[in-house]
Amino acid sequence: MIPFSPPRIDQKIIDEVVQVLKSGWITTGPRTKMFEKKLAQYSGVSNVLCLNSATAGLEIILRWLGVGEGDEVILPAYTYSATANVVMHTGATPILVDVNDDDFCINLNRIRSAITERTKVIMPVDFAGWPCDYKALYALVNEKEVKLKFIPANDIQHKLNRIMILADAAHSLGAITDGVKSASIPDVAVYSFHAVKNLTTAEGGAVVLNLPAPFDNAAIYNFLCVYTLHGQNKDALAKMQKGNWRYDIVEAGYKCNMTDINAAMGLIELERYDDDTLVKRKHICNLYSQLLNDDNVFQLPVMKSDTRETSYHLYPLRVRNITEQQRDDIMKHIFDDDITVNVHFIPLPMLSYYRKKNYSISDYPVTYNNYSREISLPVFYDLTDEQIHQVVTSVKKAVKKVVEL
Ligand SMILES: *Cc1c(COP(=O)(O)O)cnc(C)c1O
Repeated sequence: MIPFSPPRIDQKIIDEVVQVLKSGWITTGPRTKMFEKKLAQYSGVSNVLCLNSATAGLEIILRWLGVGEGDEVILPAYTYSATANVVMHTGATPILVDVNDDDFCINLNRIRSAITERTKVIMPVDFAGWPCDYKALYALVNEKEVKLKFIPANDIQHKLNRIMILADAAHSLGAITDGVKSASIPDVAVYSFHAVKNLTTAEGGAVVLNLPAPFDNAAIYNFLCVYTLHGQNKDALAKMQKGNWRYDIVEAGYKCNMTDINAAMGLIELERYDDDTLVKRKHICNLYSQLLNDDNVFQLPVMKSDTRETSYHLYPLRVRNITEQQRDDIMKHIFDDDITVNVHFIPLPMLSYYRKKNYSISDYPVTYNNYSREISLPVFYDLTDEQIHQVVTSVKKAVKKVVEL
């Protein structure tokens, strides 16, 4: 059986985790702080905050910005539910917009028509690891008419004085735009280290802070450390110092810190990420593209351009001119060959909860078209060339069977 994306748990990871367990310090501590530092260096920013998930990171930034009832947050209809759920948690309204046909990213023109006086944040999603066009997004939120529409409701929003760009970078650790890491471009980007992601800590996420002057990202980082740990002015490590037991609660904070066990996995993974993990993933995706290069049948994912390069998180293949039912049938045949494939994603308007909130997939034709023809192929570190050939043979056979029926 060929799995879809098992995590890479080798002896190095196991040894490091055992070391943490034996060290006497298992929650947020030196390894988490080191992982944050290394992630900041890697990303090309000064401050990164590690948390227990990307979901927590996205929500905490919305809350820090004071997003709530009456506000609107623009995001793609074609994403994982986390992106929209966090907006619901704050009481704000997710404004779903359609995506591009070529690269699955949120559509700029659709964003422009969706912006109102209530818009506080745009949450683009780097789908499959392909970074959105942040330059164009900045140009959009800085347009005179768009800025005039922005109505700041608190000091932080006054300081920013425009719509915030909060990137869902759950897929895109290591993606490149104009020679730099893409996550260093938006105001804030949030990585995920969930078990299926490129770099995993079992569960985990990180908030990449890159707010423009006059924001003090180091001060924001310090505040968020407290805000994500009960609002307590001393963390567990500081309280451990001899006699340093007294603490205060300065906010009704949240509880979503990363543990040192998770960070230990992340440190090992990050060390070998660019030179090993990404090299392997790129090879896998390029080989798929080489073997499936038949434009009449397949629409291959965009992975590289003059200015951008994906993090090779997913290989979202699309089959041309098929229906959703045919896609499902093709997948069934592939599963019969003991190969695990997937669909990214079921669009938000097709999920019960969002349907009940009156979102309708008929308003998102490109999203539906992408979804109905999409099959994500296995991509993981230990996938061999032989297995890749097996997958491709199975896919071609399945398509032939279904389309010629
Ligand atoms: C995985 C994922 C998330 C959530 O990440 P967690 O770390 O599990 O919270 C958010 N958005 C997208 C697009 C994802 O794929």
